[in-house]
Amino acid sequence: MAATISFHSEIPVKYRPQVLVVGAGPGGIAAAVSAARQGAEVLLLESSFLPGGLSTAGRVPILMPFSDGERILCGGFGAEVIKRLQARAQLYGFESGGALNAEHLKLIYEDLLGESGAVVLYGCRLCAVEHEAGHVKAAVFASVEGLFAVEAAVYIDGTGDGILASWAGAEYAAGGENGEWMPSTLCSLWAGFDWKKYLEGKAFGHDDDNMLALLDKAFAAGELQQTDYHHTGLTRISTVAAAGNVSHEFDVNPYSVESVSQALIRARKRLVEYERFYRKHIKGFEHAEIIGSGSMLGIREGRRIIGDYVLNVKDFEARATFPDEIGRYNFSADIHPPRPGRKELEEHKRLFQATKMKRGESYGVPYRILLPAALNNVLICGRCVSTDRHLYASLRVIPGSYITGQAAGIAAAIAAESRCEPRRIDIGSLRSRLSALGVYMRG
Ligand SMILES: Cc1cc2nc3c(=O)[nH]c(=O)nc-3n(C[C@H](O)[C@H](O)[C@H](O)COP(=O)(O)OP(=O)(O)OC[C@H]3O[C@@H](n4cnc5c(N)ncnc54)[C@H](O)[C@@H]3O)c2cc1C
Repeated sequence: MAATISFHSEIPVKYRPQVLVVGAGPGGIAAAVSAARQGAEVLLLESSFLPGGLSTAGRVPILMPFSDGERILCGGFGAEVIKRLQARAQLYGFESGGALNAEHLKLIYEDLLGESGAVVLYGCRLCAVEHEAGHVKAAVFASVEGLFAVEAAVYIDGTGDGILASWAGAEYAAGGENGEWMPSTLCSLWAGFDWKKYLEGKAFGHDDDNMLALLDKAFAAGELQQTDYHHTGLTRISTVAAAGNVSHEFDVNPYSVESVSQALIRARKRLVEYERFYRKHIKGFEHAEIIGSGSMLGIREGRRIIGDYVLNVKDFEARATFPDEIGRYNFSADIHPPRPGRKELEEHKRLFQATKMKRGESYGVPYRILLPAALNNVLICGRCVSTDRHLYASLRVIPGSYITGQAAGIAAAIAAESRCEPRRIDIGSLRSRLSALGVYMRG
């Protein structure tokens, strides 16, 4: 048995906001801004030194679909982010998604937080949760100032991985049935290419036949060490830069610091292999350079906290509608295969295509998936909300996180103003406030 020590410390309670949001990713920021706009006193604490989580620090390249082809699905907070990106000409559009410039996105997030009155503090890592019988009493943070505690009426877990909720005793599921994980990616920033020449070369960066033939050649020559056919590729984000979602790290255990650290070390080496690959084989990339990579590993799969309801594949297939719906979403089930082979890639493509929704289609997102079943003053948002694995692979993306974050924030504000638990709030009031923001709901 590992040795243990007994640790005791008097920790100052430094803040007592009505709503504490932990984690400033897309979910946490949407929650903090939305709660503050409803008049709640909001504190947002983030372990890193920038807002945006995977959408900035993780350098993920694209806003996944934010519309069903007929209407915006992440109305309210999400629509505002999109409008502000467009006003800065920083959303390179597809029909219903777009490539992101992370630097501008950081500014937009900070503007939205500042305008809302929510206070954000960086460099504050949640390191313990004081709780009793499903009630969180305080959250403890480590910072450059030492340890401090925060007591709040309502806690929102925006850590992406359900850290606060699980430490407070919430049950969760994670990974696949056979213990497998989706692979991780260290996303990157590229420059120095000739985009026009690249498109003429027809080797678009995804897993089309041209790219597969080039990959085969590079595998045979030993230029790429891992025979990974699932090549998500590069997306142009400006006239001079592209964002890379390139290469996978397999068998990364997100709950092992050793596993994550080793994956980062491997991923940084692998990126330089891909830089050589692009320079040698892809027209237009002869002089391309990687000029940056994420400050956090892109871990695709983490905890799915078990809530009052588990949104599941049947709801997806039925395009379900719920009486407590807080929004609707439509992205395919994007389950990156846990192994790098060609067969796995074909299965991924098949599932992705089979689950593609048609124009105007979407599934409902019920409020109950934001309520950890075992806890009474905690809401969850972002990718850790209560779903099965199929739904996780759809809702975990940035627009999905805006939808759940916004609803969690408004619900927390209602709970604080009505002095009740989030589970007991008036759902009608939540839905009418969401509706006033332009959120598309049925039910
Ligand atoms: C490789 C990869 C590529 C992706 N590509 C896309 C894409 O192209 N488009 C898309 O829409 N989605 C994409 N996604 C998904 C998407 O980016 C995330 O799922 C989304 O960012 C989830 O938002 P979140 O707020 O739940 O969590 P996160 O973005 O993970 O944010 C969580 C925040 O909490 C903070 N935090 C964590 N622990 C603590 C703690 N103990 N104390 C304080 N703060 C803490 C983190 O630092 C972080 O800022 C991708 C994901 C990965 C991994």
